[in-house]
Amino acid sequence: MGLLAVALSVFSIAIYGGLRTYLNQSLQRGLAATANTLVRDFLAKLPQKGETWVLGEIRESYAATATDHFVRLSVDGRVLYQTSDMHDPTIQLSDLALPASSSPGGYHRQRAKGGRVLVYLQPFTGPDGRVFQVEAGTSLYAVTQTLRWLEKILVLATVVILVFATLGGYFLMEHALRPLVTLTEKAANIGRTRLGERLPVIPTRDELERLTHSLNSMIDRMEQSLDHNRRFSADASHELRTPLTIMRGELEEMLRIDDLPPEAVGNLLSTLDEIDRMSRIVNSLMAITRLDAGGERMNLEKIDLSAIVEATTEHLRLLADEKHLLLGCSSEPEIVVFGDAMRLKQVIVNLVVNAIKYTPSDASTEGDAVGRHGSVLVTVSTTDGFAKLQVTDNGIGISEETLPRVFDRFYRADFARSRDAGGVGLGLAIVKSIVTAHEGSVSIESVLGQGSTVTVLLPLLKAGQTVGSASPEEAAVSEKQIRLQSV
Ligand code: ADP
Repeated sequence: MGLLAVALSVFSIAIYGGLRTYLNQSLQRGLAATANTLVRDFLAKLPQKGETWVLGEIRESYAATATDHFVRLSVDGRVLYQTSDMHDPTIQLSDLALPASSSPGGYHRQRAKGGRVLVYLQPFTGPDGRVFQVEAGTSLYAVTQTLRWLEKILVLATVVILVFATLGGYFLMEHALRPLVTLTEKAANIGRTRLGERLPVIPTRDELERLTHSLNSMIDRMEQSLDHNRRFSADASHELRTPLTIMRGELEEMLRIDDLPPEAVGNLLSTLDEIDRMSRIVNSLMAITRLDAGGERMNLEKIDLSAIVEATTEHLRLLADEKHLLLGCSSEPEIVVFGDAMRLKQVIVNLVVNAIKYTPSDASTEGDAVGRHGSVLVTVSTTDGFAKLQVTDNGIGISEETLPRVFDRFYRADFARSRDAGGVGLGLAIVKSIVTAHEGSVSIESVLGQGSTVTVLLPLLKAGQTVGSASPEEAAVSEKQIRLQSV
């Protein structure tokens, strides 16, 4: 719009200036021609024919009828001949100052009562030395009016063109960019849950269509390589399980041998511990990679989350008692979700075990938690169509910098403590996988030294909805026992 405004302004100024120059020059040429004719045809013959003849001829040639121009002949400030006053608009010649005999020739403008006048003055020196002043003039009214009219037209045309061009340009651009907006929105969602979706191909027959095809094939390749990696990890962890079980069995057998030296028993026991740890890692890894690879199927059913939470928390009470922690559970009755009971149980176990793990049993042993008694609270409630499971503890908490990473695989904020407590850094990653597969979300809030709260939101089964009468999508999901989505 700016460029167009500049271009139109330059164009308008050029047209206006050009026309003004042209009109002025043609007026000047006409006036000069009139004055020259008068001098050449009449005044030049003054020496031969005399003043009376000259004046008579001039009078005859330049009729006195009123027009928008005039001719005036004067000498020493005395008018010898002049045509009538100008009209349309009326300008009286007496208003125009008479030139002095010494005035040099040329063009000048004069302002009179009726308007402005352009005058061409041509002096002629007679045989007796007197200077005759020949004036040919014209009113500038017509030219001024024409230029004013042109000015209005140009301003109006510039504004109208600018408005239309801007609106047109805006709509054209919007139309042209609409496919890009659609692509951008789609592209932003791809990969959020899984890579299965593709960009819509808009048949624009141009670079955009080619770009969409290229991006889609790039996503194909990425999906293939991700699938490959996931399958590889899933297979690898699966393959590792058997040798670990065999090693464990064999070590246990060796321990049964009588008269083993005490160092050998110690070594065997610590090796068994390490094998246990490795088994835990392999098991967690297998669970998580299978979820990723879509190889794990979920048994979706209508389940009472409150009941599961209460039962699972009860099972973990022993663990809390061992650490002298208070473990509380409060739940609204009958919060029903559509999910896999086993996996949701795993979510609760992972969260409560973490809370127990990272909460010091006795306040006096932990500098961070002086004066408080370690406690873990599990709550289940509903909010905006979601079941809300919260596990809150007043344990060691997590620092602000590490908080965003706790759902990452193998991430352990407090490596030594986590390792001592048997953690492998996959507990929260598994929670996230399972919750995402249930189309829910998980978040964590924590203050270092004060405690943490993990919140899980799971979509509630709508009122009156049973598994049999679930929405078509859910019914399809239930029939096929949907594959878990990747994290
Ligand atoms: P881990 O097996 O090490 O517990 P998780 O994936 O369960 O692995 O947790 C990742 C990290 O997040 C842990 O190492 C721990 O530092 C931190 N974390 C998890 N839950 C809590 C909690 N309730 N309080 C403090 N830190 C926690």
